[in-house]
Amino acid sequence: MTAMPAIFFGHGNPMNAVQRNPWTDSWTEIGRTIAKPKAVLCISAHWYIPATVVTAMAEPTTIHDFGGFPRELFEFRYPAPGSPELAARVIELLGPGTIPDDRNWGLDHGTWSVLCHVLPDADVPVVQLSIDETKPAEWHYELAKKLGPLRNEGVLVVGSGNVVHNLHTYAWGRHGVQPFDWALRFDQQARELMLAGNDIPLVDYESLGKDALLSAPTPDHYLPLVYILGLRRPDDEVSFPVEGFDGGSISMLSVRLG
Ligand code: ZN
Repeated sequence: MTAMPAIFFGHGNPMNAVQRNPWTDSWTEIGRTIAKPKAVLCISAHWYIPATVVTAMAEPTTIHDFGGFPRELFEFRYPAPGSPELAARVIELLGPGTIPDDRNWGLDHGTWSVLCHVLPDADVPVVQLSIDETKPAEWHYELAKKLGPLRNEGVLVVGSGNVVHNLHTYAWGRHGVQPFDWALRFDQQARELMLAGNDIPLVDYESLGKDALLSAPTPDHYLPLVYILGLRRPDDEVSFPVEGFDGGSISMLSVRLG
């Protein structure tokens, strides 16, 4: 079996789940171009808690982890099954510090707002891995490396966040506004570093200066990218199948490795 790619998705606004736009069309296209995965492991910005936990239930619920959106979004369901087997494999790879969760979480909108376009039939089992908020980026990068064998086991590892995610400056309801200069610069810098295979400054992103700090004012939406970088193999091609900005300060950049 050839190795599965590892893909970071910039998920942006949850409304993407129930809309069609150039970003969601590109997500659909990605789903059509990859081999059908046996299962998906998703690291979502929206499961940012003080532990490393993996969903282990057979039927994860669709979690509506937001407020202030229309009813149709709260009624949205993504009925993909879970995979206790993949959860067990993840725990085996990451070590005994990883906690199985068979009741509390499920699939959050970082996962389903993207996967409903990539895998619209919801017939591929999906497992989520939390991001331990107490750990630095370097720790997450090293942890992600342990997940590498999954790419040879038919598992699509997905990171869902945003390379640039600043809600303080986000123009709610005005999707087409010009991106901020600092946002454009950081998005471009991140691409250049990725194309050069230079992951270390991206892991140590807080050292990249003011543009980085404005683009990732909190780590939650950035760290899923760090996980995907941790899965990089030397022969992986790097591509950006989705790009652009929403509301001036959310980068919709997707990163595909392999
Ligand atoms: Zn988000």
